[in-house]
Amino acid sequence: MSNDDTTTFHLACHCGTHHYPLSVPLSALPLFAWTCSCTTCRHVTGAPFITSTSVPGLSDLFPGFAPLDFKGLPETLIVYGSSPHGRRISCTKCGTPLINVYWDWDDDGNAHWVEWSAPLGALMVGDLTPDKMYNIGIHFWVGATGDGGMIRWIPDGQVNWATWPHMGIFDISKEIGKPKPHLNGLGEDVLSCSCKCKGVKFEILRPSAKPDGPGVKEMAPLPSKWHANHCFCNDCRLWLGHLLPSAVSVGREHIRWVDDATLKVYQSSPGMKRMFCGNCAAKVGTSCDENGWMDISIGLIDIDGEEDDGRENEGIAGLLKDWTEWSEEFSFGEEASDTRLRDEVRTGMARDGFMKGA
Ligand SMILES: [Zn+2]
Ligand SMILES: [Zn+2]
Ligand SMILES: [Zn+2]
Repeated sequence: MSNDDTTTFHLACHCGTHHYPLSVPLSALPLFAWTCSCTTCRHVTGAPFITSTSVPGLSDLFPGFAPLDFKGLPETLIVYGSSPHGRRISCTKCGTPLINVYWDWDDDGNAHWVEWSAPLGALMVGDLTPDKMYNIGIHFWVGATGDGGMIRWIPDGQVNWATWPHMGIFDISKEIGKPKPHLNGLGEDVLSCSCKCKGVKFEILRPSAKPDGPGVKEMAPLPSKWHANHCFCNDCRLWLGHLLPSAVSVGREHIRWVDDATLKVYQSSPGMKRMFCGNCAAKVGTSCDENGWMDISIGLIDIDGEEDDGRENEGIAGLLKDWTEWSEEFSFGEEASDTRLRDEVRTGMARDGFMKGA
């Protein structure tokens, strides 16, 4: 096939350890892409939902890799078994997710239907615009967020499956969930957060719990709420690996660590720390040495009834309404790789009363 018939996608991590060119036939474009808001995807990445696509050639990158027994990958890659059907491969040094493998078994115990996918935020293409490169055609497991979570904010008309396509469509136009109080063992109202493997667990306190603590002045617009925002800068997108890096900014002393056994720090630039779970690779958050606060990944927030599906849950959007106040301006909105997604998010946030709108 001549060069005119193909284009090259680059799959890369933030720290530069991994960089894989993938030759994709133009006839395969736009690639089918999807979001997933399931409990696993949120807690194994830190993203509010993942954005993935099946890129031809992914299964050839590591020919010795045996997904079932976790063997055959270099030590520069973490492989985490997110379920009996799935492996998530990320950079050991920086945590950027690179490849997901899913499969199913037939009655004889042989794997069939194997799918290799890559996160859209870690894929780069020369001058192809996102609409030519991929098409997000389905939103999976929207019901796992309780109320639609941030998929509520993407009015793109695509199918919103309540769960994997066996439980029907989730109607995102209904109201956001009603948050319930979450009291910890000390009787404090907290937002609880965890990575998928639970090696990292912590609680976020309201600003009013320590009104003089660091970060309150800058990041607490109200005694009960922390500042939150999406950051569309290239660094945050590439590190997270997904298209919508969203964080709540919390005073350092307002974070109560329950477990940090697997917490790993990646120093991405002088003074800038990016923290992730060294076991499941969930992005925990970022902090600048001179600031009194940390930016915590919204995907780690636990909701009541997390393992259930549907509207009995309090809902991610409802919890965020209760705990966060959003900027009218996105951080680095001009760097967004997918401006259509960015603008849809703004429309949806205005409809739910999180922003004033365009
Ligand atoms: Zn890396
Ligand atoms: Zn998922
Ligand atoms: Zn973990």
